[in-house]
Amino acid sequence: MRGFLRAVSDQVKLALAIRSLLPPRPADMHARAEAREARFRNLLRYADENSPFYRKQFQGIDLKTCAITDLPTLSKAKMMANLDDVFTDRALRRDDLERFMNNAANVGTYFEGNYAVCHTSGSQGQPAIIVLDKSAILTMFAAQFARGQPVSRRFLPHLRRLFNPARFSIITQKPGFYPSSTFFNYFPERARRFTKLQRLSVFDPPDVLVEKLNTFRPNIITGYTSALETITREMQAGRLKPNSDLEQITNISEPLPKAIAEHVQQAFGIHVTNVYSMAECMALTCGCQATHGSHLNDELAMLEVVDANNRPVPNGTPGSKVLLTNLYNLAQPIIRYEIDDIVTISPKPCECGSLLPLVESVDGRSKDQFWVNINGQIRELPYYIFLLVIHNETNLAEHQFLQTGVNQFVLRAVAVPGKTLSVDRLRDLVQQSLISERLVGIVHFDVEIVDQILPEESGKVRRAKNVFGPPPVAASDPQPALASEI
Ligand SMILES: [Zn+2]
Repeated sequence: MRGFLRAVSDQVKLALAIRSLLPPRPADMHARAEAREARFRNLLRYADENSPFYRKQFQGIDLKTCAITDLPTLSKAKMMANLDDVFTDRALRRDDLERFMNNAANVGTYFEGNYAVCHTSGSQGQPAIIVLDKSAILTMFAAQFARGQPVSRRFLPHLRRLFNPARFSIITQKPGFYPSSTFFNYFPERARRFTKLQRLSVFDPPDVLVEKLNTFRPNIITGYTSALETITREMQAGRLKPNSDLEQITNISEPLPKAIAEHVQQAFGIHVTNVYSMAECMALTCGCQATHGSHLNDELAMLEVVDANNRPVPNGTPGSKVLLTNLYNLAQPIIRYEIDDIVTISPKPCECGSLLPLVESVDGRSKDQFWVNINGQIRELPYYIFLLVIHNETNLAEHQFLQTGVNQFVLRAVAVPGKTLSVDRLRDLVQQSLISERLVGIVHFDVEIVDQILPEESGKVRRAKNVFGPPPVAASDPQPALASEI
């Protein structure tokens, strides 16, 4: 009886969470702003009362009235160095979590019966450990159900799903504690009646992927950009069968270049939605149904787009990084957490009619740092400088930029099936970028046309890969400001 009651209560909780996150209407905006403010104040109060780290950070700040910009920012290094104290439950300890994740049998189980655990891949430095409480997991899935696909406010279409569950294929990496892989293991028990999940791996050989997809006939496919490129190739080659049940394709974890999005859409004849999220806040956005941007779930998270000195940049302008505040996970408060993503928020309302802010573009994920030596001075070279190539060459399916030496770079390019790429044209396009950045004669570039670009161990293709190494640090150079990191 108790089990039955718990099941009903879980079902009601999920339904209520989904209902509260249905796409907002104009009349809802005031109540939403109030709910967001209440969540923000609750997060600050909870962190102050339960996290020794934040209690110290917040000293002298009036948490009832402060603006978010009055609060200190948090780097990943600082969070990891103070992890035990960042947690709001003293039973959570980094050593125990690491031991827990070292045992593959724990994938999909709750730590201490209460917490979902994952670590980031560390492609941008040390991995972060992230812990979510059960309510945060419910919110994460509710946001996806409510806003990740066109949802009817009416009841009948949902009833249909009871008898004919949605089939959902997820192509990530092999099971592990990586966020995009592990969180699906916590798919709510109650939602399984409405949705059948098929888990696939980017490391499955294409013929295995194709056979499984042909049999399962999913309504929704979600995967990394590289996985979407693989299935597009298989579709065009005629091995993946047309599937009239397919309603949506969603890109996760990697930036979605426009050429690739259009290419996938052309092959499948449906819109590709694009989700911008990270382990620290999986419910940050949901994919837009009309553009390749994603809509910020702004009552669940605050996203400040800032320059290198943490000053806000206006909408329509790319920032140097973002400061993330997660408003729904109280187990590990993430407040003004620095992420090196180059994000642009649209200055205009979205054409899809959503009232939520639109994250128009994201660059800089899954990347290494590039650098150049200009007259003896070492300068960072942002990868997006080369993106002009991507936007102008429609025959380009996949790409990767490599740093192979001092001021030496290589563009590796894969053509759209049935199309060809010209080394000269690609070199011309790169040259145009170099001219506009005044790097002609400084940066040397080669172009290689290849058959495929293999993903890294994490399952993601690294779009910017430094195979040479970091810049030399001269003894006279100022040391990085490490004091604030510890
Ligand atoms: Zn939109």
